[in-house]
Amino acid sequence: MSKPFASSADLAEKTETLERIDEGVYALTAEGDPNVGAVEGEDFLVCIEARATPAAARDWLNELRRHTDKPVRYLILTHYHAVRVLGASAFEADAIIASSATSDLIAERGSQDWDSEFGRMPRLFKNPEEIPGLTRPDITFDDRMTIELGGDRGRLDLQFFGRGHTAGDIAVWHANSGTLFAGDLVEAQAALYTGDAFHFDWAGSTLDSVKALQPVHLVGGRGPVARGRGACDAAIEQTRGFLKGMIEEVGAIHRRGGSLKEAFEATHAALEPRFGRWPIFEHCLPFNVQRLWDEFDGIDWPRIWTMERDREVWAQLQD
Ligand SMILES: [Zn+2]
Repeated sequence: MSKPFASSADLAEKTETLERIDEGVYALTAEGDPNVGAVEGEDFLVCIEARATPAAARDWLNELRRHTDKPVRYLILTHYHAVRVLGASAFEADAIIASSATSDLIAERGSQDWDSEFGRMPRLFKNPEEIPGLTRPDITFDDRMTIELGGDRGRLDLQFFGRGHTAGDIAVWHANSGTLFAGDLVEAQAALYTGDAFHFDWAGSTLDSVKALQPVHLVGGRGPVARGRGACDAAIEQTRGFLKGMIEEVGAIHRRGGSLKEAFEATHAALEPRFGRWPIFEHCLPFNVQRLWDEFDGIDWPRIWTMERDREVWAQLQD
């Protein structure tokens, strides 16, 4: 029997949990659905990630409003993926912040990515007709930006650590509480999506730089909040292990002149025992292997996923 396309058959609502990580530091996790976060300034809020639609974003804001009624001054987007950015209008933020690379990617491929992600993960797109259009950042930066939170709340450091999950990911670091909002650069007990990734950079210097922050709490792109230095390092090394496992399997088949299909099957067999039960493993793996295969072929800039290309790769590898 063929497998249903991507997450198209995953229609069961997930339980959402608002976690208060420290004074004024929040995350909402949802059993492997994309995570979001917020940090309080003295008289304003900073929100991190926007969810897939304004309606999905409002569900999160309603939870957050039980703890604080401060207005949202900044909405930070860690990267361009549709399920993390298209709900932005619901925040009524004074300014939306992203890296310049993310801004460029939205201009280059935002609309194709919207169609692709809608087809792959329809459940996340609650009331999709409310999306007003592509989300475009108001403030961009190349490497670093700082937001002073006021009082004794410290500051947020927004930083680009090198290419990883996409060409433009940033992470958000709150040194006061030791909390890292890592976006999709780190997953905790959830599978990685690497269809737009730079596997070699990500598994090497990018994750090394993330780990060097020595977080005490880590909010990854999906999965539970990692609490404690050991759990944070474990999440980072789990992410690296997934990438290295893929590089090893796909690389071996590529070097001996094998086919993409063989690379997929070898990678699936190698990773399934360790990662197969985690959210979105089956959904992601065909797209992941195709992108890594392209990297081994010398294609540096990720090819754009469209609804048609998604279905072609799925039919070739996963059916
Ligand atoms: Zn992503």
